[in-house]
Amino acid sequence: MQTIDDVAKKIIATLNEAGFQAYIVGGAVRDKLLNKPVNDIDLATDATPTEVTALFEHVIPVGIEHGTVIVRADHLSFEVTTFREEAGYSDFRHPDEVSYVTDLTTDLSRRDFTMNAMAENKQGTIIDPFDGKADLQARLIRAVGEPLERFQEDPLRILRALRFASQLGFMIETNTYEAMQTRLPLITALAIERVRVELDKLIQAENCRMGLHQAEALGLFDYLPVFKDSPSLIMKVRASECPFNGLTDWFVYLAYLEKQFDLSTFIKAYKLSNKDKQVMNDLDDTLMFYQSTGVSDRLVYQLDKASIHRFCVLVFHIFGENLSPDDLLDQKQALPIQSRQELAVDGHDLRRLLTDKAPGPWLRELIEVIEQNVVSGSLPNKKRAIEEWVKWYYQSENA
Ligand code: ATP
Ligand code: MG
Repeated sequence: MQTIDDVAKKIIATLNEAGFQAYIVGGAVRDKLLNKPVNDIDLATDATPTEVTALFEHVIPVGIEHGTVIVRADHLSFEVTTFREEAGYSDFRHPDEVSYVTDLTTDLSRRDFTMNAMAENKQGTIIDPFDGKADLQARLIRAVGEPLERFQEDPLRILRALRFASQLGFMIETNTYEAMQTRLPLITALAIERVRVELDKLIQAENCRMGLHQAEALGLFDYLPVFKDSPSLIMKVRASECPFNGLTDWFVYLAYLEKQFDLSTFIKAYKLSNKDKQVMNDLDDTLMFYQSTGVSDRLVYQLDKASIHRFCVLVFHIFGENLSPDDLLDQKQALPIQSRQELAVDGHDLRRLLTDKAPGPWLRELIEVIEQNVVSGSLPNKKRAIEEWVKWYYQSENA
């Protein structure tokens, strides 16, 4: 079977045959040397985006302004970026100037860490001008070039170093670490969206206890929104469990433990989407419910199918209790209904049945009571049975 690497090599061959240099670069070279699965391959070339576009049938112009196009081949996407150098990062968000170069080493020298600054040619030879391979073997994260300058150029690299430490269980080389410490205050100038991406990866990683510990020891949380205003929250970070399914879930965890923090504080400060907001609030409600009643039919009904795994991780880290996502899913699927839409009656039916009652909040409340009784199994999900029960309910209420 053809692998993603084979397809990448075919693209390289096409570029080489047209007289251009082309290499696999960045994370894919690193992960291959670490024997980790590679799902995503980036290529670098001295061909300009226009030249790349002319050579391939399916090209998507995703980031022409910084020299990147996506080449589609065999249903896979490859980012192909023209060799470039970057000058000045006065806003800490975008380089002021990007210029194309024809030399691979110059392109590799703008990359963040030695392990990310290697290239692989069509024959599989590794080009490694900054000794990235040796650092990989020594399990060290080391800045390319002068660390103080590199973190000044783009302080996001500080967060990237910490998240790679978390993902790979590597140490940070001493000069690199010291420069991270010196440049740490620049973190506050970064766009929060970029910060979020790196923190998200850090918190999901296998070695995140170590990553989190290193981040905390460096003092990172003194410069991050929400955390910087609360020493008690930073104490919680120090003792925090992980990994979680993502940053969102870690925030739910922290807000659960540190009740004075409303989830919405995190949601606003980290500009989380409405979808994340909804899922986080639901997880939070369900945790509260779990704390008072444990696993029940109502609890699994309330749990969204897609969130069951996340919920189990949270329960494990908060209460130390091991729930099986499969068991919860089975219990959920065995319920008489999966959602309110499946109830055998709706609002119209109930209004028709109780014509003497004026519209009002009673209708919503009634549907909720019916729903709970159907979920718990005390009322069958049959229209006639529910209507009989409703009549009885109102008679007994008015008696
Ligand atoms: P991942 O496996 O998480 O995608 P990656 O190393 O591929 O890790 P990307 O963010 O996809 O990380 O970036 C691809 C490559 O681009 C990196 O390996 C590195 O060479 C370079 N790079 C990315 N971000 C920066 C940065 N802020 N400064 C310098 N080089 C960077
Ligand atoms: Mg990548």
